[in-house]
Amino acid sequence: MIEMDEYYALSNTKELVKTVKKVIFKKTPTEKGIIVFNVSTMLAIYRALKYQRPQITTTAQFTGNMWKNNCYMEVRLGTSLKEAIEALQFKRAKEVLLLQGGMVEGKVVDPEDFIITAKMPIYTAWKVTKETKQESCIRCGKCIKTCPMNLHPVLILDAIQKKKNLTRFELERCTECGLCSYVCPSNIPVHEIVKMGKQELTDKEHHSLCQ
Ligand code: SF4
Ligand code: SF4
Repeated sequence: MIEMDEYYALSNTKELVKTVKKVIFKKTPTEKGIIVFNVSTMLAIYRALKYQRPQITTTAQFTGNMWKNNCYMEVRLGTSLKEAIEALQFKRAKEVLLLQGGMVEGKVVDPEDFIITAKMPIYTAWKVTKETKQESCIRCGKCIKTCPMNLHPVLILDAIQKKKNLTRFELERCTECGLCSYVCPSNIPVHEIVKMGKQELTDKEHHSLCQ
């Protein structure tokens, strides 16, 4: 058992493996002989082995400043997010931004047609803030200083804009934590652009493998 400090992005698999095992992997931890399970998966494995029970539920986390009560709840797979909202309730329904995932890297979801699955069952309800305007990059370097994987997000943006080769930037190490966007004073969606570059490289890799 290892006790660790709490800090943002520790729950990210790359960050966790780097911190606990002092190992950096490229795509999956199994490359280094490591498997990472969360508590919900461990519970599902235990129930399957001990009671031959298939996984029919997941432990979902409801967090953020707009739920009436933040909590963990065992939810049946396939439950609509709308039902969960009816059960837990928002503080002020009209001002809520609902994300699947955390505050920094989460994706906005529409509860009307969203079904809860075992994949990333974290739902953040946040107060809607005024839209911020995107400005030009001022070359402050904050995205570089903040990146936990020591990448150079601003240089990656430059390379993507100029359609340069991205292979030297080690994009596969990006954990998509979103911190580069969070700290950017120009409100540039840096991590979204980095993610696009990462996807482009993966697509190229698949394409070359298929040829
Ligand atoms: S999302 Fe941004 S800060 Fe996070 S690892 Fe990727 S480049 Fe670095
Ligand atoms: S944090 Fe934003 S403004 Fe600063 S260098 Fe990075 S992309 Fe440019």
